[in-house]
Amino acid sequence: MAQQEREERRGTEHVRVAVIGSGFGGLGAAVRLRREGVTDFVVLERAGSVGGTWRDNTYPGCACDVPSHLYSFSFAPHPDWPRTFSGQEHIRAYLEHVTDLFGLRPHLRLDTEVLRMAWDAERLRWDIETTAGRYSADLVVSATGPLSDPKVPDIPGLDSFPGEVFHSARWNHGFDLRGKRVAVVGTGASAIQIVPAIAPDVSRLTLFQRTPPWVMPRVDRRITGAERALHRALPVTGRLRRGVLWGIRELQVQAFTKHPDELGFVEQLARRNMARAIKDPALRATLTPDYRIGCKRILLSSTYYPALARPHVDVVAAGLAEVRGSTVVGADGTEAEVDAIVFGTGFHVTDMPIAERVFGAGGQSLAQAWSGGMESLRGATAAGFPNWMTVIGPNTGLGNSSMILMIESQLNYLADYLRQLDVLGGRVALDARPGAVRAWNRRVQQRMERTVWNTGGCTSWYLDAAGRNTTVWPGTTTEFRRATRRVDLAEYAVLRPAAPAATASGDLREVSA
Ligand SMILES: Cc1cc2nc3c(=O)[nH]c(=O)nc-3n(C[C@H](O)[C@H](O)[C@H](O)COP(=O)(O)OP(=O)(O)OC[C@H]3O[C@@H](n4cnc5c(N)ncnc54)[C@H](O)[C@@H]3O)c2cc1C
Repeated sequence: MAQQEREERRGTEHVRVAVIGSGFGGLGAAVRLRREGVTDFVVLERAGSVGGTWRDNTYPGCACDVPSHLYSFSFAPHPDWPRTFSGQEHIRAYLEHVTDLFGLRPHLRLDTEVLRMAWDAERLRWDIETTAGRYSADLVVSATGPLSDPKVPDIPGLDSFPGEVFHSARWNHGFDLRGKRVAVVGTGASAIQIVPAIAPDVSRLTLFQRTPPWVMPRVDRRITGAERALHRALPVTGRLRRGVLWGIRELQVQAFTKHPDELGFVEQLARRNMARAIKDPALRATLTPDYRIGCKRILLSSTYYPALARPHVDVVAAGLAEVRGSTVVGADGTEAEVDAIVFGTGFHVTDMPIAERVFGAGGQSLAQAWSGGMESLRGATAAGFPNWMTVIGPNTGLGNSSMILMIESQLNYLADYLRQLDVLGGRVALDARPGAVRAWNRRVQQRMERTVWNTGGCTSWYLDAAGRNTTVWPGTTTEFRRATRRVDLAEYAVLRPAAPAATASGDLREVSA
């Protein structure tokens, strides 16, 4: 194919599969493709190296909050994790190692940002425009990440702030925070790692907190040389460790999804974690959440509260409302003069940025198709977007466990999708049936009704603008694995190119599965 077709498509490189993104999702997909015997694929990555989340988030204190032995690929165990919760640099190095171990480098197209992709209904493939040329692909695996594009709130006066401003995921290492007055905006997972890491160095730290998080102690320790040696010598012990970590979380999730009323005792543990460090009753009141634990992601830290108790750290119980010159002003009127503002304000999650760039069979963008909220079939495919699949799509997020478990389930689905296409044979595409998408989402939303994310009395980044939870999976990882083991062809329309005469008019023929 290659030569003739490349010429025909005027410099467009055609591949069977185009993977977008090189984080855990994209690299995992690449490994899986190779294991399925597919070598005709590229990984398109806008940055200059692999790693996704773990390349971009280099802020002080950055680490995973799911133990490393679980927050890693099951097919690439790593006996040498240095800590129970390893730091960003180790996770990034692990992903570089995975890239080499599975021979993925030749497939990488770095510094290649996908700008637009459109479904070619005649040829049954995706035309992809990137910053480094054009590609076409029979199948697209979009692994652009749920937490990849930073979100900075539109704050009046921010543009004229004379100091440094950056987001936690784009840390400015050229700026020395030592001795500076720093405002941190937000109290989510990143901010609570940043605050204790920078507090000892800055002269004043002002933390803007719209809603206090529930924070549980973090049992982080060095993994001893003996443990590592054991995992190296007897890999089964590493698997066992992973299994125990997984099983605990599998049991915990039942409380979030089915019995939120039973979470009161977990709140007691979190309150005790706070009380150990925060002696001032007024500050304790400010830091105590008024919603059920688990409604927002439970954060883990044993150093956050002690940092907030330091005399040069102020907590403003309001969001940042305005910037006037070098003065930051809270929604409650509190003012502070600062040299730098760090936004720990999260990411575009429910408004997945890649959706603006994907144009399906009807010419509509995925963002338009999702204007009423994200909806997919089994977290992967979307009606009207044939042979397009997302990793960590709608309702695949987890409140308490490792996203790698969900990613690997989605890779099972991808592998079976490819097998189904092979079995069908010839030029063929699958398009999720709208009825199947609706049925799946109805089931997901029904199950969501009694979960802590919907009933816990909070507003979280799990919810979209309409208040619908389109991000979290309301079940166990085992249930999701079961739901994504096989592609059910009854849920898809099978598309074939139309007969030659009709092809000229762009007609498509749907054949029954
Ligand atoms: C600070 C932080 C800590 C976290 N800790 C945990 C944890 O402890 N446990 C857990 O389970 N999860 C955690 N997460 C969630 C984490 O994002 C996922 O676990 C996982 O890393 C996501 O992998 P991904 O490949 O889907 O996305 P990403 O790692 O975000 O990778 C997406 C890739 O796509 C690329 N990309 C995006 N758009 C384009 C485009 N248009 N063209 C080309 N390339 C593009 C990006 O550059 C990026 O490399 C954390 C997230 C953050 C931000």
